[in-house]
Amino acid sequence: MDCIFCKIVKGEIPSTKVYEDEMILAFRDIDPKAPSHVVIIPKEHYANIVEIPANSGVMEAVLNAIKEVAKAEDVVDSGFRIINNYKSDGGQSVDHVHFHMLGKRSLQWPPG
Ligand code: AMP
Repeated sequence: MDCIFCKIVKGEIPSTKVYEDEMILAFRDIDPKAPSHVVIIPKEHYANIVEIPANSGVMEAVLNAIKEVAKAEDVVDSGFRIINNYKSDGGQSVDHVHFHMLGKRSLQWPPG
């Protein structure tokens, strides 16, 4: 499958890894929107968040990764934002489910 994030998981495209476990890979976004911008993905391909099966353990693994990346990025105390863009209105551009983790600056609300 021609999926850029699957290629990153397989090491066919380079990335700057921040965290990895059996189910998850987290790497620096190539076009960062904050001083800390990490993309957290399940290694298994799901096109979007709706395709993740309930009770599959994937979201638990994502939650654990969020905590680990927050520690690694030193944003546990200062704060951060998790974003999942879903399909066109949500602004999803890569069809492999991913969670943006933004930190190290004060973020606006509501987002644009
Ligand atoms: P989204 O627009 O929510 O689908 O987010 C996709 C994100 O993937 C964007 O923030 C891109 O900058 C990022 N991205 C695309 N290609 C790469 C890559 N090769 N390495 C790291 N981040 C990437």
